[in-house]
Amino acid sequence: MMCVQQQFNGWRLLRWVGWVLLGLALVAAGGIAYGLRSTPDIDLGVHATGSVDAEVQALFLGTSSMAWTDGKTTWMVDGFFSRQALGRVAFSRLDVDEQRVLEVARETFNRLDMPHVLSGIVVAHSHYDHALDAPFLVKTYGGNLYGSASTGQIALGQDVPGTRVYVTGKEGLANFGQFRVELRESAHAPTGFTGGFNTAPLRLPAHALSFKEGTSYSFLVSHPLLGSGPFALIQPSAGFIPGQNNGVAVNTVFLGTGGLGKLDADYLAAYWQEMVMNTGAKQVYLIHWDNFTLPLMQQGLPISLQAMPNLVDDFSRSLRELKKLAKRDSVNLRVLNAWDIVEFPRPR
Ligand SMILES: [Zn+2]
Repeated sequence: MMCVQQQFNGWRLLRWVGWVLLGLALVAAGGIAYGLRSTPDIDLGVHATGSVDAEVQALFLGTSSMAWTDGKTTWMVDGFFSRQALGRVAFSRLDVDEQRVLEVARETFNRLDMPHVLSGIVVAHSHYDHALDAPFLVKTYGGNLYGSASTGQIALGQDVPGTRVYVTGKEGLANFGQFRVELRESAHAPTGFTGGFNTAPLRLPAHALSFKEGTSYSFLVSHPLLGSGPFALIQPSAGFIPGQNNGVAVNTVFLGTGGLGKLDADYLAAYWQEMVMNTGAKQVYLIHWDNFTLPLMQQGLPISLQAMPNLVDDFSRSLRELKKLAKRDSVNLRVLNAWDIVEFPRPR
């Protein structure tokens, strides 16, 4: 009898534990769903465009993607436009969303009032949110592709002819018409998803985690209309090698902020010091702050970016901290929205 009673109590306990575990799992799932859905509202302000008739322009396209032109030549950084939904990124293998990429590319050329031709693309590093679409873009619109050996494997996996893939080591140089773009080894933001090289052609479809980082670069942009040395630094990922900008002087920095919201204040200050103070920049544009599982266009029309979900990043916090530093150092800070055009007027 005693034994049956114990067994009964045992079952009751087990059932109770089961319910508690289920409850906890539901609360956790709810928390994750909430964290993924709640995003900070970012005030992007209103920016007049087209007021300065500068030849050199950069059109921002989310993440660290952008299109640059001087009215003669067009080239891109990354050109990641597929921006698959989170569910597809997590649970399926990715392919280039050709329709989306073509739609964004066409809109980009039209807004820049340029023929639909590319001189080339520089790829920041080999994660899918930088490297996935670049091979398709150069196959469609022409030009050469520049990046690490890891990015080279992604290009070969998409059948870009080897003669049009320029593999860079720690440093490299890409000439696009009169533009000169220096590739310099930098570092990825310490997000935990770093390291590794693709060592064989990466065929699509492939899971997001198959895209190994390779080398992470920063880019120094020069153009004769804007002086003899570099005028802009593009830092796609929020990482740095201490001293990487020794000897670099630029007026403008495109500053990658992805992941900064979860890193400590000392890291953020050191990153700012290396990128902004050490280069003497007076204008900073924030890039790679957006949720790249959302598209750049909807029903044929360009749409606004949204910040990363709070669970993944805390862009409000990054922005708050960066604004303090910008104020302290008298630096102009602006968050770039997709489709914003930055103009670089000739110095008088
Ligand atoms: Zn990355």
